[in-house]
Amino acid sequence: MADPKKLYIKTYGCQMNVYDSERMAEALGGSGYVETSTPDDADMILLNTCHIREKAAEKVYSELGRFKGLKAEKPDLKIGVAGCVAQAEGEEIMRRQPMVDLVVGPQSYHRLPEKEDQVRGGKKALDTDFPAEDKFEVLRKRPKAARGPTAFLTVQEGCDKFCAFCVVPYTRGAEVSRPAERVLAEARELVERGVREITLLGQNVNAYHGEGPAGPNGAGGDWSLARLIWALAEVDGLERIRFTTSHPNDMDNDLIEAHGTCDKLMPYLHLPVQSGSDKVLKAMNRKHTAKSYLRLIERIRAARPDILISGDFIVGFPGETEADFADTMALVEAVRYGQCYSFKYSTRPGTPAAERAQVDESVKADRLARLQALLTDQQRAIQDAMVGQTVKVLFEREGRMPGQMAGKSDHLHAVHVVGEGIGIGDLTPVRITQSGPNSLSGVKAA
Ligand code: SF4
Repeated sequence: MADPKKLYIKTYGCQMNVYDSERMAEALGGSGYVETSTPDDADMILLNTCHIREKAAEKVYSELGRFKGLKAEKPDLKIGVAGCVAQAEGEEIMRRQPMVDLVVGPQSYHRLPEKEDQVRGGKKALDTDFPAEDKFEVLRKRPKAARGPTAFLTVQEGCDKFCAFCVVPYTRGAEVSRPAERVLAEARELVERGVREITLLGQNVNAYHGEGPAGPNGAGGDWSLARLIWALAEVDGLERIRFTTSHPNDMDNDLIEAHGTCDKLMPYLHLPVQSGSDKVLKAMNRKHTAKSYLRLIERIRAARPDILISGDFIVGFPGETEADFADTMALVEAVRYGQCYSFKYSTRPGTPAAERAQVDESVKADRLARLQALLTDQQRAIQDAMVGQTVKVLFEREGRMPGQMAGKSDHLHAVHVVGEGIGIGDLTPVRITQSGPNSLSGVKAA
């Protein structure tokens, strides 16, 4: 039997790319590939790229440059670019880096085996279409190997919101939701393989509107995310459900209510706001105000008082003044975030905000430092308040110290425990004894 071919995938960016990389590895598994952790012994290198960060395309070109020597040594090595940069740059990638054999956009991964055939035959392959077929259904025919206790499951892709700073509507296309029954079948299969926690993924996951069977009252056809979550909660062996990333305008009443009543839905919500200034929110085309966001947080907390809120912020958006930034700080004070991602605004070619007058870099850096200091204080205070409490932890892996196990609490805090009698996949009560900069420590509770 021929030795398997080796596939090296480097993944950039969000959890959706992590999920997509797993699917690509599985799709190419059918063409005789096994994954390798180093590019040096690979027969195919795939860069699964992200367009969110500044100068993303330039970084991909320089990364490709690093593989030139390898390609010269091994002419049979095939090099591919996938993900959002592939979608945005298309043929330009092969023009600038002729050693690239394959360029494939996020909607075409199910066609990877046929593209691989093409490149093995010495041709170049480019596929950045937005085809109508369900790529996930094709990709679902995965090998049934056991896996860890947590998994991502993409239920929705694309975005119709067109925030002025964001490339997603251009690189991932319009909002598309997977049919509910396909999501449920994939979830059941994941649980059979050992998964106990599923995070539903979508660029705009709470805008999920999947086709589904009618309920007992005859209402069917269009399932909301809340309805999907309730159906997932019925899956035996699935203990925890999370979802990310949400838009404030798509937090409907049913989803808020599910946070209060569905035991398997974890008390954690990532709800980006980006700015606390209505003027900046309008310029960002966010279609909500600071006040409507704060009102929404109040309603969510009324449904689930202990929910941990996480968010995203962009500082130094074109036109942001010191007064606008003060509004952002006031919103952060009002919300009290348990976790946050915050960045200086940086231009994305092709987006409306890229053409506007930019805020000075030193001003952006100063504002980001002040915002991050406040967010770190809040995150730490919420984490410190867990000391003395008993929380449920799903253990995912061994820790770095001897005898240590690492997992996540219901609130998504990283928790470390040293001691006997804990295995990977155990969902165990832990009494928190200590709070560190980014994680909690504890002991197994009786
Ligand atoms: S809602 Fe999210 S994905 Fe959609 S355009 Fe805005 S930031 Fe991008």
